[in-house]
Amino acid sequence: MPRVLSVVDRSVPDSIAGPADSEEPPGPTAGVTNAVISPPITPPAVNLSAVPTSKHTVPRLTVSARSDAFRRQFYPQAGLRDWNDWRWQNRHRVRSLPDLDRMFRLTDDERQAIEARHGALPLGITPYYASLIDAENPAQGLRRTVIPVSGEYLKSRGESDDPLGEDSSSPVPGLVHRYPDRVLLLVTNFCSVYCRYCTRARMVGSVGERSIRKHDLEKAIDYIAATPVVRDVLLSGGDPLSLDDERLEWILKRLRQIPHVEFIRIGSKQPIVQPQRITPALARILKRYHPLWMSLHFTHPDELTPEVAEACARLADAGIPLGSQTVLLKGINDNLATMRALVHGLLRIRVRPYYLYQCDPISGSSHFRTPVAKGLEIIRGLRGHTTGYAIPTYVIDAPEGGGKIPLAPDYVVGRDGDDLLLSNYANGSYRYPDPRPESPGCESA
Ligand code: SF4
Repeated sequence: MPRVLSVVDRSVPDSIAGPADSEEPPGPTAGVTNAVISPPITPPAVNLSAVPTSKHTVPRLTVSARSDAFRRQFYPQAGLRDWNDWRWQNRHRVRSLPDLDRMFRLTDDERQAIEARHGALPLGITPYYASLIDAENPAQGLRRTVIPVSGEYLKSRGESDDPLGEDSSSPVPGLVHRYPDRVLLLVTNFCSVYCRYCTRARMVGSVGERSIRKHDLEKAIDYIAATPVVRDVLLSGGDPLSLDDERLEWILKRLRQIPHVEFIRIGSKQPIVQPQRITPALARILKRYHPLWMSLHFTHPDELTPEVAEACARLADAGIPLGSQTVLLKGINDNLATMRALVHGLLRIRVRPYYLYQCDPISGSSHFRTPVAKGLEIIRGLRGHTTGYAIPTYVIDAPEGGGKIPLAPDYVVGRDGDDLLLSNYANGSYRYPDPRPESPGCESA
């Protein structure tokens, strides 16, 4: 096949990786010297919401009363302009025991888990996301997802560091090619917030592996260009939206220059943990690379803040279809009331609940995993009881690369001759004529 890459602009940053121990994702301040981006990002003619600074423009975003009170208490030197600057949010992430101690009343177990921390997954919480955490209640859902506990270090039967077998489906570094027509491109391993149940805990945030190197990214894009069956590329990581605008646009532009790539998706938690990242400028960039869809990682209705609603509105207004991927987590969102509040709230901010994942058996995840019966119970409690668009597909991502397997409550209760016996959402019994192929009268006319 023709080498599509021969016509691609090679004037790219030497690296999209920042220093291994940097607090910030790759960006102009992270050692990149020769970024050449085309076309240039044009600022809006009139942007009444922008607050100019000497360095860069920081768009305003709604700040909820709760977050503002948190800012005043724990970052009194920071103004709203700082708070709304996603780079400031990165620089001031909560990353240590003294940081946590200052903000939350820690349990002995949390404290010991942080002091004894080992393994690849670091601690990281943006000030914004920290403002949503209950300082007094260790059982609060959001708190449990980001503050370590000792259960993280207990490896149970069936758990693995790479439960999905991604490493064995990787023809080139940073790329997973498991399904025939689509690939997963892991563009960074930086996340502004680290979820304690992360399927990629083996790699996200690891020292020295924060971002894919330019050389590896080039090889991954070369692979896609040389593989015409690939029509769909999912950017993931880490969090692709933690890259700065220039690097993200460089990747999108390169992918769009490959004729057989029909569809680009981005998986991200940034709009939820760092809604300040969803600037109007970013939305304009993304809009240039349609069809582009986005899967957002929501966990709990406490994440549905005014800031997140505004960030999602910017994305939706840019024409990006938004879906939510939610992991079912024990004691966090594994009850019908919480899940109903989440899916209803998502529809209100134009996000379609897409997948509900059974938690992957990542090492040290037993305190997060529910019985599968719990997920089925939640789906049964939603189906028929609320809007169909609000109901995600419940899946197990099968270990060792088996792919997503959908699970649904069984509404077929039996058969009576040529009738199928069904039960509806309200446990009503129904018959549906479903003659067996061998039954008389089934021949076509
Ligand atoms: S945002 Fe996604 S990739 Fe990052 S730590 Fe959370 S689950 Fe892992």
